Amino acid sequence: MKAADLHCDVLFKMLKHPELSFREPSGGKLDVTADRLREGEVSLQAFAIYLPEDGPKDPETVLREAELFWSKVLSEKGIRLIRTAGDLQAAWDGGQTGALLSLEGADGLREQWWCLRLLHLLGLRLLGPTWNWANWACDGAMEPRGGGLTRAGKRLVNECESMGILIDVSHMSERGFWDVAELSSRPFFASHSNVRAVREHSRNLTDAQLAAIFRADGIVGLTFVPWFLSDREPASVDDVLRHVEHVCSLGGERHLAFGSDFDGIERHVHGLSQPGHYPSLADALLKRYPEPIVRGMLGENAVRFLRKYLPQ
Ligand SMILES: [Zn+2]
Repeated sequence: MKAADLHCDVLFKMLKHPELSFREPSGGKLDVTADRLREGEVSLQAFAIYLPEDGPKDPETVLREAELFWSKVLSEKGIRLIRTAGDLQAAWDGGQTGALLSLEGADGLREQWWCLRLLHLLGLRLLGPTWNWANWACDGAMEPRGGGLTRAGKRLVNECESMGILIDVSHMSERGFWDVAELSSRPFFASHSNVRAVREHSRNLTDAQLAAIFRADGIVGLTFVPWFLSDREPASVDDVLRHVEHVCSLGGERHLAFGSDFDGIERHVHGLSQPGHYPSLADALLKRYPEPIVRGMLGENAVRFLRKYLPQ
């Protein structure tokens, strides 16, 4: 069964370890590789540009990761860049893995709008204004101040909308989330967040936030970060299913997707530690939900959303 994954951090890992390729054997250092995407029938994978906390946050580092996306990921056979709805359809129908470029935190752009425009040319189609802390655009979900979008952050959202870049609210403060909800004329989405009613964590979404995403025709990528799933570790696939169940109880079954955060985490859900494990998640879902619903959750909901809202 075809899967879609809205978030991974393999570009950041390859920036840190230039000797790694995007193939097996990766010396066991990478969760996401071309072979594992194929093995897991991952037909759509978003690749985030994330800047390490301890490194420079500037346009050069952002572009270095974009270059890795092109030189290491897109050069693999069977992987196809997704810039438009048509690209996505062609990759899906042709049994390829569609690769989407996203930016996790706009810190490195430093309000340099040329850099945003250049990234757009390089394929950027998803953008989260901030990571966990505050930056020039917005406060993050872990920032105690809890501020929303700044004036420049509002411009960022508007610029993205005019270019056809979708806004990812996963790391935003609650205030920032509601600013996006108010400002946006287009649907927004959460690439890798879970349900706060199931696991109290500031990176997880409240029921009101989830309902707002569903109303806006957006999607939520539930994530496999153990500490966002449960307060007990190791987390299990059953913990993922508890979050799925809650989204369904809010009427969100057609807005549910997954965003693994593979290569962004050091600890994993038991039995769900790399893209090749998507079929076992599908099996667990099939024990609880009808097949058409599971197909939606695993991949088709994300593809429907992107086909509708990426540039045509
Ligand atoms: Zn993240």
